[in-house]
Amino acid sequence: MEILIEKLRRREPLIWINGNYDLEKAEESSPFSMDSVYQAEEVLNDYAPVLRKLFPELESSKGIIESPLLTVNTMYNDFIPPGHLLLKADHLLPVSGSIKARGGIFAVLKVVDRIAERENIFQKDRKFTLSESAKNIFSNYRIAVGSTGNLGLSIGIAGRAFGFSVEVHMSSDAKAWKKVLLRRIGADVVEYDSDYTAACEAARVSAQQDNSVYFIDDENSTDLFLGYSVAALRLRKQLDELHITVSGEHPLFVYLPCGVGGAPGGITFALKQLFGNTVHCFFAEPVDAPAMTLGLVTEKYKDISIRDIGLSGYTAADGLAVGRPSGFVSLLMKRYLDGAYTLPDKDLFYYLARLYDTEGYKVEPSAAAGCAGPVLFNTSDEGRGYLEQKGIEDQNIIHVIWSTGGSMEPQAEFEKNYTKGCS
Ligand SMILES: *Cc1c(COP(=O)(O)O)cnc(C)c1O
Repeated sequence: MEILIEKLRRREPLIWINGNYDLEKAEESSPFSMDSVYQAEEVLNDYAPVLRKLFPELESSKGIIESPLLTVNTMYNDFIPPGHLLLKADHLLPVSGSIKARGGIFAVLKVVDRIAERENIFQKDRKFTLSESAKNIFSNYRIAVGSTGNLGLSIGIAGRAFGFSVEVHMSSDAKAWKKVLLRRIGADVVEYDSDYTAACEAARVSAQQDNSVYFIDDENSTDLFLGYSVAALRLRKQLDELHITVSGEHPLFVYLPCGVGGAPGGITFALKQLFGNTVHCFFAEPVDAPAMTLGLVTEKYKDISIRDIGLSGYTAADGLAVGRPSGFVSLLMKRYLDGAYTLPDKDLFYYLARLYDTEGYKVEPSAAAGCAGPVLFNTSDEGRGYLEQKGIEDQNIIHVIWSTGGSMEPQAEFEKNYTKGCS
């Protein structure tokens, strides 16, 4: 453990295999079951007609917010990882252009549910048309959220569409264009010089004063977690459509960029329910902000911050720039997660540029973190050791790189990152 902490402190890229991984123990201690995931899916299905009306871009999917599963054969250059290479393109998720469109919009729908019950609107089923009078009622309520950017965007866009007033507390990492966009749609943006944990805390305090304010708590929200988890059901369907069968011999390796852990944790949890030990989930974090890895390695979870080992948390991966992981998610991941790796920002820029050059996809730096996974598992000692220990043939692996955001980024922003990746 000391060696790992030293590597984290020195910002040395690493692969960490989780010695505490144990699916049976995980199931025993998990507060969630697959039922919770199916219920979340049902909520999303029930609200699909409303979402379709609110967001014309959901017309073709009939109100379902989903991203394509794409093949990426040409992205790798010097070393081409064997196996099947797939990209789960959440950077193309409609409505808010990042993985937060899953959890964030689901969390807003849950607030809608609660208020609808409180105010006796459309109690019986959720297949309502959003009337002006319902919107008027929602306008008496406020949703508050702390965010490094993308969660604020998702909740701001969805919340405003339902008529809520929305208050987004943003950390210093948040990009200017995200604040501009939010203000344009009528959200209140409160800016902080401090990091994400402080912005979140301010939002929490603001909500406690007033029972017409609903706080969506990125560090503790089971709604967010379950909203994200539905992605596993959708991925399984997409793999079926491609006639890809996952088995012990043909395992699924999933690489998920991780911030506080809600998004990758929710997805990992549900993938493990569906595929058991035949899916292997790995979180990817910047060397400057390895919050989840540090929490899991030290077994201190949310009670240790990257600042405690002298790291700044400054990274171009704003979506991953957090100091400590979510408490409940990191505890859950103790048993569910197979491992994690860290990488420097320059690698994020490199993969961002490669993805654009070879496939034409525009992602943000955070979203490129998963691209390193297939290479690392083939070329590093830890990665090869893992495959050997599990008896996995590299050419049989189905790699799923989760690209988590970027399609809403302004062109100038993308070009800056792209230029860095080319040099
Ligand atoms: C938020 C975010 C993540 C990670 O999600 P967490 O729930 O914070 O772990 C990954 N990529 C992008 C682009 C994000 O915005």
